[in-house]
Amino acid sequence: MLKPYPFVFLICLSLAGLVDAQTNTGSLVPPRLVVVISVDQMRNDYLERFGSYFGEGGFNRLKRQGIRFSNARYHYVPTYTGPGHACISTGSFPMYNGIVANDWFDRAQQKSVYCVEDPSAKTVGSTGNAGQMSPQYLWATTLGDELKLAYPNAKNIAVAIKDRSAILMAGHHANGVYWLDPSNGNFISSTFYTQALPRWVSAFNQSAAKDKEINQPWDLDKKLQALSHLDNQPDEAAFPGETEPVFPHNDPKTSGKYGYQRLKHLPAGNTLTVDFAVETIEQENLGLDDTPDLLNISFSQPDIMGHQFGIRSLEVADTYIKLDQNLAKLFGYLDQKVGSEHYVVVLTADHGAAENPKFAKAQKIPGGVITDDIKTKLEHSVPGSSAYIQAVQNLNVYLSPDCPADFQERIRQAMRSIPGILDVYSFSELFPLLTLSHGPGMLAKGLHHNRSGNLIGLSMPGYMEGLSGEKGTTHGSPYSYDAQVPLLFFGSVFKPHCHYQEVGVEDIAPTLSQLLGIPSPNASVGAVLPIFRGR
Ligand SMILES: [Zn+2]
Repeated sequence: MLKPYPFVFLICLSLAGLVDAQTNTGSLVPPRLVVVISVDQMRNDYLERFGSYFGEGGFNRLKRQGIRFSNARYHYVPTYTGPGHACISTGSFPMYNGIVANDWFDRAQQKSVYCVEDPSAKTVGSTGNAGQMSPQYLWATTLGDELKLAYPNAKNIAVAIKDRSAILMAGHHANGVYWLDPSNGNFISSTFYTQALPRWVSAFNQSAAKDKEINQPWDLDKKLQALSHLDNQPDEAAFPGETEPVFPHNDPKTSGKYGYQRLKHLPAGNTLTVDFAVETIEQENLGLDDTPDLLNISFSQPDIMGHQFGIRSLEVADTYIKLDQNLAKLFGYLDQKVGSEHYVVVLTADHGAAENPKFAKAQKIPGGVITDDIKTKLEHSVPGSSAYIQAVQNLNVYLSPDCPADFQERIRQAMRSIPGILDVYSFSELFPLLTLSHGPGMLAKGLHHNRSGNLIGLSMPGYMEGLSGEKGTTHGSPYSYDAQVPLLFFGSVFKPHCHYQEVGVEDIAPTLSQLLGIPSPNASVGAVLPIFRGR
């Protein structure tokens, strides 16, 4: 007689969850589909800089018909891709969600680990190791995880070229998480999520879509032709296989040997992402009933191309013109398939990007490159320190447990003298500064003692690590150019307006939780944004 009780209890619990979900929103009906879009490395100012080149159906539609938060920022360091996508989905900081960088030094294994690597997982949909990934390092639940807990029939799906973007947006409990295997151009997954690709994903992979996209030259849009004399700049790196950073790109004679890798560099990679997202909505019937679904899309190519060419390049401008057309296509499809009254789109970015320091210096603006080899520099400056410095990564210095205090202090002083380093803090010094909304407070929110160093450096404004040959751009700092990102909410439930006060990217997930009538992700720290009309 006792046996049925747990079962009945579980049914009551889940029914109670559903009732709460409905009543908590008052008269607000949750949308049938939420689409969260992250444009990797998109700076907030691109909405203005490229606005006149955009059509009416993409970015400008979100700007004019949606709610824009024109001062949305990350509140932690490092502003990298893994942490950014984890913050969007969990509403939390690295100190709670665990994603302290893209790669960090793992003390137990004494080696660097990648934020979504998982050797115990196997690739699904391909023969290589590109699918040996999972969210094993992500400690917190995501919006999608909470949606699945509240509505077991809801779908939580993510699509991106980069594995970490798809995985960290979707989280743990997902119906499909797909990323690109650059060796063959297929969208793949991992055994963490599924044992086999759905038939429609395999069919998409076998279709002519990827070959159609990759075999076209990348031409400059006619709207930018008048600026073509600015194409070749000294701070731009070249496209794979090319010697000069000039249009047209992707000549099969020079770039062909890079195969499907080029999808990461070509705007065609975004077209393929949108085509795959549309196929996902179509095949998974997203947004067609009253149970809400979540589709996460990250556009990875703008980051990979941005790193190469830099934020002032024609390649960046052209990428966004073409991405705008792809967004218009996606929104048009959503209007027709799901109905404009039934879906909500949120668009943001995982981080921004810096001015190229060479370009900045030409405008008399300070900046530069921090040496890539801090470890050697410290070991040279502090004789005997090589016995104690285990690794230097992301401006974090990992010291062995037996490092004497005076050595730690000498290493800190040596690091402070490296050009481009503003200051260096010990891990324990930062925690009292946690509530600061800038510099050291942002560092503190990005740390965990198991995954971060003993000494943590803060870069000077305009200075950056890892900028090979001072070409292109990068990101990672607490400063506006990296921390400030676009944030737009679009849907018929919203009254269009622009909100100028500062908000956090960590606010996105708790806000969408309210919209969906579900609990916020378990480690979320964000506030609910003012998106609700008259509420
Ligand atoms: Zn990124």
